Amino acid sequence: MKRIARVILLLLLVAGLWLALKPTLGNRRLTFLPQHWSEYLDYMDFWLNLGAFAILGLTVWFALGALEKVLQRLCLMIGSITLMNLFLEAMQSSIPGRAMDRADIWAGLLGCILGIATGLAFQLFAVRKKSRTTSPQVLFLDQTGRLGGAELMLLDIAAARAADSEVALFQDGEFRTALENAHVKTHVFKLGEEASAVDKQAGVASALASIPAILDLVLQIARAARAFDVVYANTAKSLIIGGPAARLAGRRLIFHLHDIIADGHFSSLNQKALIFCANYCARKVIANSEATKAAFIASGGRADLCVVVPNGFQIPEERTSTAKTSALRSSLGIQPAAWTVLMAGRLSHWKGQHVLLEALKSVPTAHAILLGDALFTDEDRLYAQRLHTQAEEPELKGRIHFAGFQSDTMPYFDMADAVVHASVFPEPFGRVIVEGMLAGKPVIASRAGGAAEIIQHEQTGLLVDPGNADELAAALLRLQTDTAFSSTLARQARQAAQDTYALDAVQEKIESVIRHIAGSNKSQLLSPAIPLPKPPPCAA
Ligand code: UDP
Repeated sequence: MKRIARVILLLLLVAGLWLALKPTLGNRRLTFLPQHWSEYLDYMDFWLNLGAFAILGLTVWFALGALEKVLQRLCLMIGSITLMNLFLEAMQSSIPGRAMDRADIWAGLLGCILGIATGLAFQLFAVRKKSRTTSPQVLFLDQTGRLGGAELMLLDIAAARAADSEVALFQDGEFRTALENAHVKTHVFKLGEEASAVDKQAGVASALASIPAILDLVLQIARAARAFDVVYANTAKSLIIGGPAARLAGRRLIFHLHDIIADGHFSSLNQKALIFCANYCARKVIANSEATKAAFIASGGRADLCVVVPNGFQIPEERTSTAKTSALRSSLGIQPAAWTVLMAGRLSHWKGQHVLLEALKSVPTAHAILLGDALFTDEDRLYAQRLHTQAEEPELKGRIHFAGFQSDTMPYFDMADAVVHASVFPEPFGRVIVEGMLAGKPVIASRAGGAAEIIQHEQTGLLVDPGNADELAAALLRLQTDTAFSSTLARQARQAAQDTYALDAVQEKIESVIRHIAGSNKSQLLSPAIPLPKPPPCAA
């Protein structure tokens, strides 16, 4: 590449010199051009001089120019090239029948300035681009203002690169506050009501009604995206909006896949729309587990786009003091000695809180804390009401404690004797499982999806069949009675979680994907004209 640039530079210099010398060596016998062309060139003297010195100026700038001491070099170069022009004109005036031409000197001077200014502009542009690509500017997109697992992951990613990132949300809420507290510049682009109502199970009618609002938002995001190198869609709905917006803005898109794209999680229309947008618009899909990657590919997603990066977690140096956990217990009405399990996560049927409640009927002395709230849909809110009713059943009364949504979850993990995850559908990742392991608690999880990748059965936790309350009850009783086994499981779990899910290492992986997609490596910077491979059109 460098050799080609040098040859081009040399050719430019020769061309510039020849054009500059042409009026001086204007003896037609010296030219290899037909006579009438040569006469015409003489007639074009001023413009040729201008062009010749513009090329010379540009060539000298590229050969010597550097941004340090710009003004100094600029004056030096204009001065020396103009002197050269004067010298050429003086030579010209010494040829019998020719005189010094002032217009030529002006043309030379203007040409120099033009050439050098073009060189300067090129260099400024390249430096700006380079400084931008050394730390790519990222626009993160997320549809919700609530704090779910995907948002907590994004909070950590965006906070770590707050100087080079902004977040666009389609809904206001505590997520915006958390981002702003982490000094991440955040904007709320409100999605119209029809479009907000379209959920993962949406059908054709509600999808059609939402089109105008979606188009409006796509245009707004496309306008905003132009100031960034990369658009990073963190949720399904933000991909549907961000994919076309990134294309319109000519920006590259990364999709962070936090969902299992399959029946039970998404309607078939939504699955098709998601796969289409990912295949056609994304340069990379970051799947949070092998399970989400497999489901993406099984639904028609391009395997070559996918990379698996698990969630990362800050490993706190200090855990909650015993005094604080005791106070928390008593505030929830739980006796100090009562064996207590924690289930954390939003209240939603597929998260399976009802399975835990059913299992607890067979573990008569155990208490349960349900940490979390119904976050997203009316269906979830109805489910939460049903859980409250279930908790009042005689076999459970007084043993189920609803803690609501808490932003500081650590004291709850620390006060529990065990942690339960009971999703009835495959969990895409399952942050609460890792959080339980990091807290040094024995964890029981559903044997499916990301949960089955995190836990090694009997080594770092226990796995039970999803939705099987009897098996869950047996696992709970085992942990409650076999305290030596519980402690071994907890110790091994904590070590495994610390080794695999440390936030720094995960952030590094995500940053390297961002840099790769932003094209920050040098060869891409030097050859921006190389077209990137086009994704094949989607079958949907
Ligand atoms: N969580 C929280 N406050 C609560 C309940 C849960 O901050 O009251 C957090 C929990 O600690 C976990 C996340 O919400 O980090 C839930 O993530 P997970 O992957 O388990 O489920 P998702 O919400 O992604 O389906």
